[in-house]
Amino acid sequence: MESMESKSLTTARRMRALEPSATLAMAARASAMTASGIDVIDLSVGEPDFPTPPHICRAAEEAIRAGKTKYTPAAGIPQLKKAVADDYGRRTGLAITPAQVVVSNGAKHALHNVFTAVLDEGDEVIVPTPYWVSYAELIKLTGAKPILLETRIEENFKLRPEALRAAITPRTRMLLLCSPSNPTGVVYTAAELGSLADVAIERDLAVVADEIYDQLVYDGRPSVSFPTLRPGLADRTVVVAGVSKTYSMTGWRIGWTIAPEPLSKAIGNLQSQETSNPCSISQHAAIAALTGPQECVAEMLQAFEKRRDLVAKRLRGMPGVRIPEIGGAFYAFFDIRESLQRMAARGIGTSMQWCETLLDKHHVALVAGSAFGAECFVRMSFAASEDKLTVGLDRIASYLDVG
Ligand code: PMP
Ligand code: GLU
Repeated sequence: MESMESKSLTTARRMRALEPSATLAMAARASAMTASGIDVIDLSVGEPDFPTPPHICRAAEEAIRAGKTKYTPAAGIPQLKKAVADDYGRRTGLAITPAQVVVSNGAKHALHNVFTAVLDEGDEVIVPTPYWVSYAELIKLTGAKPILLETRIEENFKLRPEALRAAITPRTRMLLLCSPSNPTGVVYTAAELGSLADVAIERDLAVVADEIYDQLVYDGRPSVSFPTLRPGLADRTVVVAGVSKTYSMTGWRIGWTIAPEPLSKAIGNLQSQETSNPCSISQHAAIAALTGPQECVAEMLQAFEKRRDLVAKRLRGMPGVRIPEIGGAFYAFFDIRESLQRMAARGIGTSMQWCETLLDKHHVALVAGSAFGAECFVRMSFAASEDKLTVGLDRIASYLDVG
């Protein structure tokens, strides 16, 4: 019998436009090479290499033993919502109520929730580039349009208010900000963010402030909480954060939004239909993270700062390489323009080809700048041991030398 190819399961149009996460794709490629016996230095994914602190793991074990294994309220257990509100309130001086918090399955899911709950088809969201991989794809899924607004290394990859103002159209609904930034590591000052807040207020924009790296700021500088910067700013801002980076808890999948109450209610309703609740055990672990001893955060910060120093110094010494000032997070985003020019004759003309050759020939995994909307750059995660970073940097140096 002749086989008839069924069209019943062709994917929806919105799926055809969806790119897979480039960071996760590169990490998967590096893991597959490692599994086949190749000594790969994987500096692709942004994931702290420290184990989750033991007191947090113990809280999860206790939760299992105590039978906390059932559904929880969709927006998170009250104790965790209170812990998030208290923690953010204590660090920023803002009065946050637990009803403003929705706990989700990681900050990525929290972002997806905000976009779904706020954006209508055709709305525009201004996303400064270089931007974290998932923003544009998650915005597109809602039918809204990411407007990618270029920032330049010469300006330390910071969006200026004039550029923001010029990009606003009658369809602009939202501005997305990420400081400390993934992928650039750049941290805005309060004054710089304040001047962007003025434009958002003047033009009635919503702001999503991705503050997942807010406790990873170097050189003793304070972290800036966006909604504190102007009176009333909290009414138009959604803060996204979580435990993944601060407490080395990427696999536990706990993130959250802090938003005005009516929007939080809508996000909670959405989540009740989508996923019921984030994992009950992980929520108990997150309570321990937020309310328990905080020395682990300071220790990890110190280790990351040492690695930042090592990586920035080595990269700055390499031929043609430029990097912005890394004030936070754990990424070095460096310019490979000169290297690409030298390698053009060998058919290496894009950041993707540059990264593929580095991985194939020198066994170091980085992520191509094109995934972050910035061709001619590559991103290196320095959430790895100093030994690994040193070997990785040696290999990158020899790649840059010999091409
Ligand atoms: N925002 C940024 C800027 C990130 O780098 C990440 C990386 N994981 C996330 C959100 C998502 O975090 P989570 O692992 O909690 O989903
Ligand atoms: N945010 C991390 C990164 O950018 C983890 C990977 C991901 O969530 O896409 O590498």
